[in-house]
Order: sequence, then C-alpha cells, then structure tokens
Amino acid sequence: MFQGEMIKVLPLADGLVELCFDRAGAAINKLDRKTMDEWRAATALIGASADVRGVLVTSAKDVFIVGADINEFAAMFQLDDERMTAGTLSSNEVLNAFEDLEVPTVVAINGLALGGGLEMTLSASARVMASTAQVGLPEVKLGLFPGLGGTVRMARLAGLATAAEWIADGKPRQAGAALEEGVIDKVCAPEALRATALALLRDAAAGQLDWRAVRRRKYLPVVATYDAMDAVRARLPGAAAHQPAAAMALALLEEAAGLDRAGALLLEAQRFTQVAKTQAAASLVRIFHNEQALKKLARQHAGTGGKVEQAAVLGAGIMGGGIAYVTALHGTPVRLKDLAEQKLAAGVDEAARQLARQVKAGRLPQARAAGVLASITPQLDFTGFDGVQFAVEAVVEDLQVKHAVLRELEAELGEEAIIATNTSSLRIADIAAPLARPRNLVGLHFFNPVPAMPLVEVIQGPLTGGAAVATAAGFVLAMGKTPIVVKDCPGFLVNRILTAYIRAFLQLVADGADFEQVDRAMETFGWPMGPAWLEDVIGIDTGSHVNDVISAGYPQRMPPLPLDALRLMAQHQRHGQKNGAGFYRYAAGPDGRLQRSPAPEAHALLAQLQADGRRHFEDIDIVERMMLPLMVEAAHALEEGVAGSAAEIDMALLLGLGFPKYLGGPLMYMDWLGMERVLRQCEKHAHLGEQYVATPAMRAMAAAGTRYH
Ligand code: NAD
Repeated sequence: MFQGEMIKVLPLADGLVELCFDRAGAAINKLDRKTMDEWRAATALIGASADVRGVLVTSAKDVFIVGADINEFAAMFQLDDERMTAGTLSSNEVLNAFEDLEVPTVVAINGLALGGGLEMTLSASARVMASTAQVGLPEVKLGLFPGLGGTVRMARLAGLATAAEWIADGKPRQAGAALEEGVIDKVCAPEALRATALALLRDAAAGQLDWRAVRRRKYLPVVATYDAMDAVRARLPGAAAHQPAAAMALALLEEAAGLDRAGALLLEAQRFTQVAKTQAAASLVRIFHNEQALKKLARQHAGTGGKVEQAAVLGAGIMGGGIAYVTALHGTPVRLKDLAEQKLAAGVDEAARQLARQVKAGRLPQARAAGVLASITPQLDFTGFDGVQFAVEAVVEDLQVKHAVLRELEAELGEEAIIATNTSSLRIADIAAPLARPRNLVGLHFFNPVPAMPLVEVIQGPLTGGAAVATAAGFVLAMGKTPIVVKDCPGFLVNRILTAYIRAFLQLVADGADFEQVDRAMETFGWPMGPAWLEDVIGIDTGSHVNDVISAGYPQRMPPLPLDALRLMAQHQRHGQKNGAGFYRYAAGPDGRLQRSPAPEAHALLAQLQADGRRHFEDIDIVERMMLPLMVEAAHALEEGVAGSAAEIDMALLLGLGFPKYLGGPLMYMDWLGMERVLRQCEKHAHLGEQYVATPAMRAMAAAGTRYH
C-alpha cells in the first residue's frame, strides 16, 4: 500500500493494515524529517482508503523508535522563534492526522520507545507493550521537554502528575510501571506481542472497545492536580537554576491543562522554542554530539590494539585496588601484586565490598560477583606475569621507585606486553628513561575514585608506540570508561587546567577573599563543589604537591608562589577530609556519613597570607577571576595539540572535573560568551598575571568571529 525508505504499509486480513517503521540500512528507527514526511504520506493514504478498518503499528528493528533525530536539532534551533514554532506545529500535524484517522490504531511496542518514539505511540488509539521493552521521555537530559505533543497527550491519557513526573525526571520506565500509570494499555510476553496487539485492534475495529472515547479525552482540557504538581516540583534537582527545562515543562503542563488539543499544542510548540534556545539545551545537545564523536574516536584509537586476556596491576593501594576491581568487573582476569600482604588483603577486601554493594542493589547476581572476585589473583611475586598482555603500574608517585619497579616488571613480561603507568604528575618521558622497550610504555591517568570516574587520560610519551596507545585505549574502553588520548606535558590535560583554576583560587585568597564565599560563588555558578571544598576532598597535602609540580612546568603563567593557602594548611597538618581538618571541619554525623562544618581556625590561619587584610569581592568578580585562567589554559592546551580537538578538551573537563554541564566545557563556554567579551574580561584582569592574557589564537578568533564548536 505504501513503500518508503523508513515506513511501509502492508495489507493484513479483514481490512486491517500494518504500518511498520523500518529504517533502511539502519539498526534502529528514529523520527527524522524523512520519516515524518513518509508518516504524513502513509497516514494520508490510509485516511483516503475506504477499505481500511484499523491500523497495527510495528517496528522491524529490536527497538521501537529511539526518539527524534538529534542530528537535526542544531539547524532547527537556529531558526528564528516564529519559524521554529511553525516547524514544530507542522510536525505535530502528522501526529494529529494519525490521531484523527476514522479507524482505530494500535501500537505494538517491541523495544525502546523514547522521546518522540513514545510521543508517536500516544497519538494512537491504544498501546500494547512487550514486557522487555522500555518507554520514557528523556528530553530533559538534553535540556528540553517533549515537543511532539508529549506534554499534551501524556497529561490527558495518564494525568497531569504522571506526565509531570515522567517529563521532569526523564527516566525510562519498564512495562509494568507504564501500565500501572496508564501510559499503555496492555503488557504481554515479547513473543505474544503481535497477536495481542492484533486482537486488541480487531476488538476495536469490531466496536468492542470505545477507542473514540479515549480519543475525546485527548482533545479536551485535563483536570489540574496542583498538589501533585507541587510534589514533583519539590523533588527537582538543585541544578534547576542552570537547567530550567523540567521547571519550564511543569509550568507548561499547568498552563495548558485548561486548553483543548489545538491550544495546548500551540503553547507546547511556543514553549519548546523557548527551551530549545536556553544555554543548557545548546550545551547539552552539543555534549551529546561530542560524546558520540568521542566514542567513535576511542574505537578508532583502540582499533589496532592487541586484545588483553590477562591483565596485571602493581600496587594494591587506593588506585591500584580500584583499577584491578573495575578490570575484573568488566571481564578481564587480573593479577594484583604488592609488596605487603596486608595491602593486598585491603585491596581484595575493597573489591569484595564493592561487589557486595552491587549484589545488594540488584545490579549483579551473587554467582557473578563471586566469579569476578575469583578472577583477581593477589600475589607478592611475579608468578604468571609471562602471560600478561597489559600491566598497570600504580605504586607510589616517586620517580626512583617507579624506575625500579618498572625495570623489574619489564624483565618479567613478554616482549610485546604493554606497561601503563598510572601517574598524576610525572612525565612519561622521564618514567620511560631506564626501560629497554620504551615504545611499550604508555601513561594512564585514572581519576579517584576509579569505579566512579568515567574518564581516563591515555598519555602518549615521545617514545610511546602506536600499539601501546591503541591497546591502552581498548583496555580503558573494556573497563567501561572513556579514554582521551593526550600528549605528555606537565599535568597532562585535566590536572593542568585544574591547576590554573586552583591557582586563581589561591591568588584570590591571598588578595583577601573569603574562601567560603568563593566556594559559594562557584557552586552557584554550577560546580559540584567549590575549590576549597574540592582541595579538602583531594587531600590538601597531595593537592599542594600536585599544584607545585605542575606549576613548575608553566613558569610563565604559573610562577612560584611565596606561600600559598594549600602549603600553609599542609604545614599545619590541615590535610582536609582525611584527617577531619582542612578549609572546613569534618566529623562523622549520626548516620556515619562525614559532615562538613565551618572552621574559624582555618580563616584565622589564612589571615597570615592576606597582607592587606580581608577584602570584599563581588561574586561576579570571583567567577571571572576563577574561570578565565581555566579557559586560557584550555586554549593553550588546544593550541599545543595536547588533545586532538575542542570536543575532547571540553568532554575531558566535564567527565574528569565535573565542569558545569550547562556550559558544555571551557571552550564551549567561550563560544557562548563570545570571544570579544572573553578578551574584554581578560584585559580587565590582565594586571593579575600572564594567566589572564588571551592566547594569539583567541585574539585571531575574536577578529575573525570564529568559534571553537
Ligand atoms: P597508595 O599509596 O595508596 O598505593 C601505592 C601501593 O603501591 C601501596 O600499596 C604500596 O605497598 C605499593 N607498592 C609500593 N612499591 C611497590 C612495588 N615495588 N611493587 C608493588 N607494589 C608496590 O597510592 P595511590 O594513591 O594508589 O597512588 C598510586 C599512583 O597513582 C601514584 O603514582 C599516584 O600519583 C597515582 N594517582 C593517584 C591518584 C589519587 O587520587 N590517589 C589519582 C591519580 C593518580
């Protein structure tokens, strides 16, 4: 009846037809422009045929429809408000026409139906869902809310509160929950899906199901349940100030409740235009693209690498224990070597604790957890190292110790085995010096805590071979983490940029700023924690050492400081969380969790550094003074080719440092501010030092009006 590239319509028995989403040459279905056009045409054909008595909607893929085509967003969001709203309304006409067909329509949801995919199903008369499928409205994760009638039809089918809940949290739902909350009509086993949906369609076509009554509800206003809405609103996360999509969606739901379908859809389209033009949406959509690009790049890097069937980790401390655990968890057996029996025991105990937690949360079957633990072999000697393809060294951060350990390790490994050194501040070139096969040495910079942190920097030293980089990238991918390949420079990429930021903090404190105000200002700006609190978490003794080592690599922008807040605190044994005293005080609360409270003695101590006493700063000045050196350092790193692209640098800071997501990364933030404005801010603070001076490329970009992304 209809044969497109994305959709076909086939006749079934008894006047029924099947509309099947089957995107040519792809593993998934998505709602892109072409699919919408074909759906429009197919619906018109069905509507014009007097013989059709009902429509079964199916997917020929494992998923139903994963959503709208995010690749089309950027161009659409650039349209002026009026044209963008008109475009959305035009897409909505397709769903309206389908909903308005004079025959019943039943969707068989066989797999994921997210965003536009779920909105498609809401325009049908009824939905039958396989027990294994999932549905949801994840638009908030892109800083958006549904724009294909989702806010309108969800509210009218399942009630305002359910619509608010689903749209605000963006989480996918299992079939049982979807049925209970009235979003779908029936659940069945996957193998019974087609028959069940067809039976429902036959009933509807035979008049045994009043599908027109259900449709009428979708045409009319909905009862507003303000208490329930307030409850959802109260649960919105703290990031709401910077990511307004959920709050905007709730306001829209309430306002549109009293309108009929046409009025509610118009309002949704207008508000969708507004939300699409927020900074959060622009950044989050760009982050989505960057993530895709990064995954592709990582797979390319890993492509030529060797397969790791047996790994080893040297050093069962904080980092080594975590690396061994995550390696084993993802299916690679690992030998864990240390010098001390009790360190090994602590490393294995920690892995056992983490596994028990996974089992308790229902994420891992007990038998599998036992298998993972058994695949970690604790040992004090080098037994079996001749069968290891990839060994991670995670002993103490001391060049002499690393040299001794690596020389010994190299002699125990096969010719082709790769060694990764997990260092936070030493150069790979220096670490490689005594090795016989430096081409097999690569840097891997893991972040602490290893199980939680998604990023790993893969550092290519001057002598590191392509095979070592490829195998390391593959190893990181196999751990379920994101590798970013960077050049060998002090601090590599993330800690180098962090150091610029921390030094700005130290300078602010020396100039009389109250560190608690700095923390508050940066947290309000969007960082998960301010710089003082962050140093407390890292450990001030460690933080101070790292700050000094990395600073020494960039004497122009990071000249030695006479005495800074970190060194002073460390001198006074204020090491942060780990000993209960840092910029703040820490003590276990009634629930056993660490609680943070102000430490007046820390303020008194820091007064020593403040030659001109305490000074008041406006929050906006604090933000500029903190962010500019970070942005300038990111620009230098890009210009020096430390990472291959702006996308990699932005993603590294998001994943490694918790850079505010709504800004998308330091380079995207500069794009957002506009380079001319960044240069004006740089000039305003240039008296503070070279770290506030824009790079030549930044100036050229301002002159040419170009952007990083
Ligand atoms: P740690 O002190 O917790 O652990 C080091 C372990 O190495 C100890 O168990 C020690 O017994 C063992 N060890 C020492 N010599 C050894 C040898 N010859 N053979 C086998 N084991 C030996 O240290 P950590 O915090 O896990 O740091 C390890 C490395 O990771 C350091 O280079 C550090 O700079 C780097 N790093 C640490 C962090 C962090 O936040 N802790 C973050 C990134 C990178």
